[in-house]
Amino acid sequence: MARFFAAAEADPALLKGKTIAVIGYGNQGRAQAINLRRFDHQVIVGNQEDQSWRQAREDGFETLAMDAAAARADVVMLLLPDEVAPAAYRELIAPHLLRGGKTLVFASGYNITYKFIAPPRESDVVLVAPRMIGQGVLDLPTRGEGFPVLVGVSQDFSGHALATALAITKGIGAFLPHGAVVESSFEEETLVDLFSEHTWAGAMLFLLDRAFKLLVEAGVSKEVALLELYASGELGEIGRAMATLGVWNQLKLHSHTSQFGQLTHGGEFIGADADALMRRAIDEIRDGTFAKRWAAEQAAGSPLYHRLLKERRSSPIATAEQELFTRLGRP
Ligand code: NDP
Repeated sequence: MARFFAAAEADPALLKGKTIAVIGYGNQGRAQAINLRRFDHQVIVGNQEDQSWRQAREDGFETLAMDAAAARADVVMLLLPDEVAPAAYRELIAPHLLRGGKTLVFASGYNITYKFIAPPRESDVVLVAPRMIGQGVLDLPTRGEGFPVLVGVSQDFSGHALATALAITKGIGAFLPHGAVVESSFEEETLVDLFSEHTWAGAMLFLLDRAFKLLVEAGVSKEVALLELYASGELGEIGRAMATLGVWNQLKLHSHTSQFGQLTHGGEFIGADADALMRRAIDEIRDGTFAKRWAAEQAAGSPLYHRLLKERRSSPIATAEQELFTRLGRP
């Protein structure tokens, strides 16, 4: 069983007198910086000079260029998008880690797992990866609630890298009631994160798209099809129920007819192909095939990414939902 850390194992005093630089004031950066400040930690922000930079200033943070913030910090939290982080790290952060003794904190395992970032030996490198969107990281602690976080260590130069990671985790509010701080690793976090994206999460989007097409072909109005499939928000409610009641136990919230239909039909969509595709996804994540493919795509200016996004955004379901959302007054 995975190890669950107790709140008592995290000592905020370890961060006393230390400066924490949050590099990247976006979804996670803003939420984590504000939470750390609420817990009385000393936080500065590093960002390029733009809207996020102005937001950090408005929120009352001392806001600097990324390299200046990294130079001042004892703990550097690299909260940039994964595809942006390696270049920013190389040019702006790495030179300030060389004097040693700093802790580099990641919210995702990606760049360390695939060695797109290779920190100097003289630094601690830890993972504090919320399983929660930035808005949740920000809002839940204001209601006295925590959230799940995966914690791991890839370099322990100081001998107390894990303790620092746990102190940061406590500082962002994860240990509050209903939170869960679980031991993991950069590699494991990368695997589970990419696995979801490469299997059920992506498959669900394509399945919904196909279901819309077939329902409309069967004579259902576009609006009724969309409301049934996801536009009502019921899917979100079912997701919440899965997290509290369980994936199968939440079925009790549905009618008996619905339960019978789901139990007898759902499995028909999962055949040998699904297992083979999921195993292939795991292999391609583990051996770096996907990471290499994505790096090559970015180096070429992401033509496939942009083409696929454009195709999906101009597909019949996207046009129909735009009309429905306008009708419903949604932004
Ligand atoms: P965001 O997309 O919100 O971006 C974070 C910051 O990066 C922003 O302040 C943005 O500034 C800056 N930025 C973007 N592009 C550039 C660039 N080219 N050069 C310099 N700065 C740039 O990132 P997230 O907060 O979503 O992700 C941060 C980390 O957290 C990632 O490792 C991610 O995997 C992880 N994570 C994210 C979760 C989420 O819910 N989003 C959940 C758990 C982990 P500006 O807007 O000014 O360009």
